[in-house]
Amino acid sequence: MLAAVRQGLPPALRRHLGSLAALPVDLGAELRAILGDRLTTAPSALEQHGRDESFHRPVPPQAVAFPESTEEVAAIVRAAAAHRTPIVPFGAGTSLEGHVAALRGGICLDMTRMNRILEVNPEDMDCWVNPEDMDCWVQAGVTRKQLDEHLRDTGLFFPVDPGADATLGGMAATRASGTAAVRYGTMRDNVRSLTVVLPDGSVTRTGRRVRKSSAGYDLTALFVGSEGTLGVITEVSLRLFGVPEAAAAAVCTFSGMKAAVDTATLVMQSGIPVARIELMDELQADAINKYSHTQLALAPTLFFEFHGSPAAVKEAAEAAGAIAADLGGADFQWADREEERRRLWSARHSAYYAARALRPGGNGLITDVCVPLSRLTECVLEAQRLCKSHGLLAPLVGHVGDSNFHMLLIIDPANAEELARAHRAVDDLVHLAQDVGGTCTGEHGIGHGKLCHLEREHGLPALQAMHGIKQALDPLNIMNPGKLGSDPAGFAAAAHIDEQA
Ligand SMILES: Cc1cc2nc3c(=O)[nH]c(=O)nc-3n(C[C@H](O)[C@H](O)[C@H](O)COP(=O)(O)OP(=O)(O)OC[C@H]3O[C@@H](n4cnc5c(N)ncnc54)[C@H](O)[C@@H]3O)c2cc1C
Repeated sequence: MLAAVRQGLPPALRRHLGSLAALPVDLGAELRAILGDRLTTAPSALEQHGRDESFHRPVPPQAVAFPESTEEVAAIVRAAAAHRTPIVPFGAGTSLEGHVAALRGGICLDMTRMNRILEVNPEDMDCWVNPEDMDCWVQAGVTRKQLDEHLRDTGLFFPVDPGADATLGGMAATRASGTAAVRYGTMRDNVRSLTVVLPDGSVTRTGRRVRKSSAGYDLTALFVGSEGTLGVITEVSLRLFGVPEAAAAAVCTFSGMKAAVDTATLVMQSGIPVARIELMDELQADAINKYSHTQLALAPTLFFEFHGSPAAVKEAAEAAGAIAADLGGADFQWADREEERRRLWSARHSAYYAARALRPGGNGLITDVCVPLSRLTECVLEAQRLCKSHGLLAPLVGHVGDSNFHMLLIIDPANAEELARAHRAVDDLVHLAQDVGGTCTGEHGIGHGKLCHLEREHGLPALQAMHGIKQALDPLNIMNPGKLGSDPAGFAAAAHIDEQA
């Protein structure tokens, strides 16, 4: 089966792979002794664990392990290191740039059985002074919706909400964000501390339960966004926030994209405290109507949400409404009640699957760029023009309060010429963002899909520094090899490996 999988891969990917033979016999026996039947080599499990939610070709691991504790993860990593065998941590597999593809084979560590919420601490963080400073400890396989459900009656919530039900370990590993990052920050801002199994199997905790510390290198920041290349996150400490006294959401439509994006920009530049401000174009509104049975107007649309005291919410909503009206926006359509707001945001979170449903059998190639706020309007308009000039079906959505937007290129995966056009469009969009001082990814991360854009963004010395960090922590190169921290000389070979069938 593994030989067949290998045979089906494009030549460039095959070059990337080590031998896809079975695991060394001794290692298999050691892992069985640790895990029993929580180690599998069943073809369906291998296939499922080599793929993410994107168009990237799956690359299966040689075995999948389901650890239940930090101690088990440490024992697996020690055994893998002794046999020089790669480890690829796996959360919910919702990443979008080929992050979990086992490019050099090895063991996939499926973290979903580490799904206990260990502590919720509403009282330790002088919350009366700062009502946004409580925390919790969770195992890395807890998903964001599981935590949401657990906190439902506590008066607390965790605000980072990527559109998929990702694990909190995976969200930390990709430095994820979501619709509320404009008000509450990303995983970078909301992870307090991590328990990490290092590539030699030792265990470390990266921070303490305090609001600030100057004690040494900031290892928490190093592991947040490391995409499984420096160690396995087994536990996460997260900031929690008090549920706001009042919240209101509104939808506002515009006759053109320019007015919609200018409104978002002006709202942000005016310092109006929004909790969410999301953009979609008319194509995406149509897709959501068809998929989620909503009745959104087919027009460029902003979704707003405001949090605070009733007076503060009213004041912020009026100020944003006045800017929208000045720029030709329609009246705000309000969703005041909790269920209405949940329905609205659930429709927004379905954007990716709604866009894919526009073209049955189509697959989604998502670009995620982030630009300086002052350049947002020109970049959004140019991005739309670029996709049109490449002849692509490409709805647009954006966390525009963060100047972060996505083009969802819906392509026929069997059409190599269309795939090549889509890759050219992504390259053009990334260059557009980088040329105005922006980044090739605001939140989805690098995986192997965007490795080829890193040197243009950071320059060679920065990449060599990343490689140095990787070598220092993982000298055997067993943690998710072929991704972040790889020798920059290998990046060119990684460019568009999906295309080279
Ligand atoms: C419909 C849709 C909408 C999305 N919307 C957003 C969005 O709004 N914002 C956003 O930021 N992202 C978004 N994403 C992308 C995705 O949800 C995030 O990247 C998410 O953080 C990945 O979490 P996961 O648990 O699925 O991780 P996986 O996909 O399983 O893994 C991602 C990476 O993290 C590593 N990893 C996973 N767990 C661990 C661990 N415990 N220790 C060390 N490394 C680990 C893996 O090796 C891999 O490199 C979206 C995806 C989809 C499909």
